Amino acid sequence: MTAAVAVQHAEPDLEGASALEILQWASAHYGDRLTFATGFGAEGCVVIDLIARAGLRVDLFTLDTGVLFPETYALWKQLEARYGVTIRGVVPEQTIGVQELVHGPKLWERDSDRCCDLRKLRPLRAALAPFDAWITAIRREQTPERANARVLERDAKFGLVKVNPLVGWTHDDVWAHIYLHDVPYNALHDRGYPSIGCAPCTSPVAPGEDARAGRWRGSAKKECGLHSR
Ligand code: SF4
Repeated sequence: MTAAVAVQHAEPDLEGASALEILQWASAHYGDRLTFATGFGAEGCVVIDLIARAGLRVDLFTLDTGVLFPETYALWKQLEARYGVTIRGVVPEQTIGVQELVHGPKLWERDSDRCCDLRKLRPLRAALAPFDAWITAIRREQTPERANARVLERDAKFGLVKVNPLVGWTHDDVWAHIYLHDVPYNALHDRGYPSIGCAPCTSPVAPGEDARAGRWRGSAKKECGLHSR
């Protein structure tokens, strides 16, 4: 059965399933051809918690752009220690130093799309190549672009199936799970950073601002392109 056919057959049953049931189905269906790419957001920590406590053998990786916050690197280690898992670091072809030599300093200030392409999209495409399906932690209410996301969908951009177990969760669902299960989360969330990406492109948000207002502040960019169609 091709991945596209599998999506059509499985999706009706999974739309009402719990996040854990979705992960269990994906793990059983795709086996070692399934991976989870986490950016260590609150949702990603929930997915790691669900995967680890259920004993699911799912490959885990993160895109280490080289300019993550120290708090994010600390959380990475904390999650590995807490759950006894390895979260692989996938790095860009160029270090920040080499990128500066080739493209000049602080590319993110001059051409953030180019920088995201070099430091996120290209490494992600290469990292996903060996897999048939990838888990994400996106939720429909996060952005207008994510409002129509489904539990299972064909990811034409990267050529595999996308599994979105938290797609129907609310912000409160995520934090209720974190507090109930004492899931480690990024310390920056308690300092006004609801959405956390690379340090140069993330700022805190003021009360009442959109949760992603601190991402690429001052530009129209709202997504790095990982989940756009
Ligand atoms: S979020 Fe900023 S620093 Fe990170 S890859 Fe994109 S432009 Fe570069």
